[in-house]
Amino acid sequence: MNEYDHPRSDGFDLREHETLLKNEPARYAAVVREVSSFGIYLLDPEGVIRSWNRGAENITGFTEAEMLGRPFENLFTEDSRRDGLPQRTLQFARANRHHKDEQPRLRRDGKELIALCTLDAVRQESGALASFVEVFTDITEVKQREASLYHRATRDALTGIFNRGHFTEMAVQEIERARRFAEPLSVALLDLDHFKRVNDTYGHDAGDMALVQFSQTCQEFARKIDLVGRLGGEEFVILLPRANKEPAFEILQRLRLKVMETRITSSGGAQFGFTVSIGLASLRPHTRDLRELLRNADAALYKAKREGRNRVECWFE
Ligand code: GH3
Ligand code: MG
Ligand code: MG
Repeated sequence: MNEYDHPRSDGFDLREHETLLKNEPARYAAVVREVSSFGIYLLDPEGVIRSWNRGAENITGFTEAEMLGRPFENLFTEDSRRDGLPQRTLQFARANRHHKDEQPRLRRDGKELIALCTLDAVRQESGALASFVEVFTDITEVKQREASLYHRATRDALTGIFNRGHFTEMAVQEIERARRFAEPLSVALLDLDHFKRVNDTYGHDAGDMALVQFSQTCQEFARKIDLVGRLGGEEFVILLPRANKEPAFEILQRLRLKVMETRITSSGGAQFGFTVSIGLASLRPHTRDLRELLRNADAALYKAKREGRNRVECWFE
């Protein structure tokens, strides 16, 4: 639900607007001219701007003098124009009478804004298209806040990769998908070796740098479709869709070797490296769920630790 769906308390009666619009578009433009918090303007049937109110000026920075006579496309960002969004929007409103969307738009200062906009095609009694009217508001801040909240809720604060909760949510979906399409899938648990020692020797900040570096290496070696997450502490997870044991093992071995080669320089100037142990488990026809897959990967990880660390082990039934 957004502000357009709430009952209106400001006397903005859409039906009244429409009647006036249909019968006297010029008077309509004059009536809404001083509305300051909603952008309201008219387009002729060819999509040329014929009125531009105070709200539209406030939101975009473009003045009435600058906008009158300009085509609808001028309101759009270059990317949207290249995509044909202005034409599609007009075409949709022409065919369906009404078009509601959130669209990136251009501001006079060159920045972009996100507009919540509704475009209506106004037809004469004869059915001929008389004009379009668009009402829009600026929802850029709302959108940014939403994006930042989403980022904070789904990402690990230190490394920026998926946190445990989000990883789990996504992984459950991937496993369902893999089952439905009978596709292979693997999960790897990764635990940094003797990490307590790294902290004890080089300091907690250096440990943090190592964790960030490690998560970057994971993302670098993972494929685009893989999910990389931090489960907590120095424990990470990678889900590899469409990969059975062999290709997954390949990827993880290369990752392990890269980690072994990587040097970190602490803020005090000390150079150090570290290693990772990895446990791998692949989906079998009778694997029940993510929990079971992680339990199997954990058993393999335990084996990797026991057999000397800095190695990849696979789970065997
Ligand atoms: P093992 O090879 O058996 O995994 O040994 P380990 O020392 O890595 O294992 P252990 O679980 O005993 O210690 C994990 C250490 O990871 C303890 C803690 O100091 C460190 N650690 C966990 N979270 C963080 C973090 O966010 N930052 C830093 N710098 N260290 C962390
Ligand atoms: Mg651990
Ligand atoms: Mg460890």
